[in-house]
Amino acid sequence: MNEVVDVRLKVFGRKDLLGLQDLHPDEIRLILDTARSFREISERPIKKVPTLRGKTLVNLFYEPSTRTRTSFEIAAKRLSADIININVPQSSIVKGEGLKDTVKTIEAMEASIVVIRHGQAGVPHILAHMVKSSIINAGDGAHEHPTQGLIDMFTILEKKGSLEGLRIVIVGDILHSRVARSNIFGLTKMGAKVCVCGPPTLIPPKVEQLKVEVYYKLEEAIKDADVIMLLRMQLERQCPNLFPTLLEYTKLYGLNKERLRVASQDVLVMHPGPINRGIEITPDVADSHYSVICDQVRNGIAVRMTVLYLLSGNRGRL
Ligand code: ASP
Repeated sequence: MNEVVDVRLKVFGRKDLLGLQDLHPDEIRLILDTARSFREISERPIKKVPTLRGKTLVNLFYEPSTRTRTSFEIAAKRLSADIININVPQSSIVKGEGLKDTVKTIEAMEASIVVIRHGQAGVPHILAHMVKSSIINAGDGAHEHPTQGLIDMFTILEKKGSLEGLRIVIVGDILHSRVARSNIFGLTKMGAKVCVCGPPTLIPPKVEQLKVEVYYKLEEAIKDADVIMLLRMQLERQCPNLFPTLLEYTKLYGLNKERLRVASQDVLVMHPGPINRGIEITPDVADSHYSVICDQVRNGIAVRMTVLYLLSGNRGRL
């Protein structure tokens, strides 16, 4: 990950970024390679380039978000784009405006890119067909969260040098996690060995068909793991009684220093946030040298700058 590649000649031929399921490994590779150049920009004393000057990005979030919305905002500002945040509860949407009309209005404002988060799976895909603006899926229900998957892959690559053959264990509420799905799609395409672990009620039926191994016992899953990715319980998407209590969940699946011993010595501990300290991870593990949680947040800006740049036809100056 030392050499910064000149990616200006390579073109990402898509209008939208909707998920990692549809991307070819070469497209993922292009994004991850390009992100190295944007990491370099983020390390400059003046972290701003004129690449997207004159373009407008709209952040349209129907579900709460701190990290993702802010990260897209910083990424757009570093590329000199204009950015509008639409706070859904205060917009006309609560007055009954339909999704299509909202986006048509945004398009009439000549937004080049719309970043959308929505509680329903598939909404970004529908919009992508309806409007000329590029659509970036910032999380659609329990379906996909492609930029988070790319950030996680970029962070692992940065630390491990390659994804090929790594044992990566995703722990928790796999059934309702869009982060898990995007990571499964992306990591398996890039040659990693992906395992999922959690209570049987939170593992999607037939998940093995996505080329993952399934574990129900944490100690067995994380044995010799190179990466452990923890997930938050998606309580807002769960129906009741999927597991007894959060305390019970922590007893069986919470990652602590003791349990970490069976993993590889240089294991990376990851979490997309927001973290529930003391539930899926103990504070000492979250703050340990194994944890790359802050790297994930930092890399989020570079990866999102990359996605904005590539979707804009990578024509601007870096
Ligand atoms: N921030 C991630 C998401 O929006 C993970 C989470 O909320 O647990 O899916």
